Amino acid sequence: MLLKDRICIVTGGSSGIGRGIALEFAREGARVAVVDRQETPLRGKYHETETTTPTVSEIEKLGADGLFLHADVADEAQVAHVIQQTVEHFGGLDVLVNNAGIHIPGGAQELSIAEWDRVVGINLRGVFVATKLAIPHLKQSKYGRIIQIASVHAYGGGAGPAYAPAKAAVVNMVRDTALEIGQFGITVNAICPGYIETAIQDYLTPEQVEEALEKTALSRFGLPRDIGRAAVFFASDDAEWVTGASLLVDGGFAAGV
Ligand code: NAP
Repeated sequence: MLLKDRICIVTGGSSGIGRGIALEFAREGARVAVVDRQETPLRGKYHETETTTPTVSEIEKLGADGLFLHADVADEAQVAHVIQQTVEHFGGLDVLVNNAGIHIPGGAQELSIAEWDRVVGINLRGVFVATKLAIPHLKQSKYGRIIQIASVHAYGGGAGPAYAPAKAAVVNMVRDTALEIGQFGITVNAICPGYIETAIQDYLTPEQVEEALEKTALSRFGLPRDIGRAAVFFASDDAEWVTGASLLVDGGFAAGV
């Protein structure tokens, strides 16, 4: 097992990619705090129609320890509380995965300023807040890891004036934080997923889903598990000398951009 007894937080862990990461961590023996706004998994229009059980139940079925903690990552008091609860419950913190994120469709002419603030507040500010509040605990760990879930859209336009810039900023923040806290043996890396089968795709039309599939070299959408395995790598000893990196896990989507 690659992550035996590592204590991990996965934000947005009830659904989609976060759930995939939490389950792969559990398969590798980790103890996982699942942080989300609700425990019930989202059931997407196009995908995941069979998913009904909470992530922690699935973690326990794998023989690992799980804990559900309610929080909105846009609220720093709630984030501070769940980090504290994790440390008290499991006895420390080794790995933080900032995965919670939202997408609101619309270009600069349609998106309201309040909607822009919401997207950036969760996808960028929320990542900073959890990172900042976790660092003192990760400094106590022998295996401190921060893994930020960005997006293939960090590298191009077309995903709106809030979502893509927030993801690009996360990729750059990874480099900055890696430089700052490498001295404590903490690594900081990003995963940039391509199109993954989750409820976040619900805003797309069937034609747009088809188009995204056509642009994916490996001819299938990614599964949450595909991102989960990349996250296991970054969390494991195999990646102990990898920091400040951003890994595209996109089935070849970006190769054609
Ligand atoms: P998802 O299926 O919509 O799941 C996201 C989970 O995060 C949901 O359980 C959601 O709960 C939770 N969440 C959202 N905002 C939150 C908040 N403020 N506080 C706590 N939890 C919150 O989305 P996903 O596709 O798994 O996306 C996960 C991450 O991957 C996001 O950062 C996304 O940008 C990124 N990503 C996804 C894709 C893709 O194709 N799926 C591609 C590239 C990057 P609610 O139901 O309350 O919203």
